[in-house]
Amino acid sequence: MDPYIDVHSHDRTHGQAELLKIVNIIPEALKFRDVLPPFISSGVHPWNSGDYADAISHVREAAELGMLSAIGETGLDRLIEIPLSLQQEIFEAHVRLSEEFHLPLIIHAVRTYPEIISSRKKLKASSPWIVHGFTGNGETMKQLMRHDIMISFGVSIIKKDNTAQTILNCPAEFLFLETDDSGADIKDIYQKAASLREMHVDDLRAMIGGNFRKIFPFRKFFPC
Ligand SMILES: [Zn+2]
Repeated sequence: MDPYIDVHSHDRTHGQAELLKIVNIIPEALKFRDVLPPFISSGVHPWNSGDYADAISHVREAAELGMLSAIGETGLDRLIEIPLSLQQEIFEAHVRLSEEFHLPLIIHAVRTYPEIISSRKKLKASSPWIVHGFTGNGETMKQLMRHDIMISFGVSIIKKDNTAQTILNCPAEFLFLETDDSGADIKDIYQKAASLREMHVDDLRAMIGGNFRKIFPFRKFFPC
């Protein structure tokens, strides 16, 4: 049986049985190697764009050491004061890392889906991209998928009717689930997604497990 895969979490506590989570670690914390969870991602969040050159070099070093399962979260956020051009520069540095190290990219996008898509085209990126915490509409989702960008849903499928509707229309091969920083139990999110899609939760686990094995680079930890 595939584990419950939580593709983006900020919860560093030990996982439960049957759970595999990618834990987001800020670049400055990557040096504490001995206490990091087994599967981590790291990147400069657009909210923390301060001393990003240093931060990105920590991420690169971790990637070189094979410590990362993904790059990010990073991205573009139109609702913050940091100029979008600066955010774009930082985002694109992460895109290059994800290409160089063949790692998936975990993306925070707030009202910037067109910019995310144009970066993918401009940089001719081919690594897997996952827009996390998706709350957009079905049309936006389609545009992202047209550029081969995957979609991760979180607690909003429980809390927001329109997102619950959107996940219904998400093709199986593009779908991930996550807790992000909600503190929710990933099993509740699977349960809700399974009931919305009218399928058994075990089948949903197998479906997301398949997506995970396709794009994440550690088959040795996850045999089957
Ligand atoms: Zn997050």
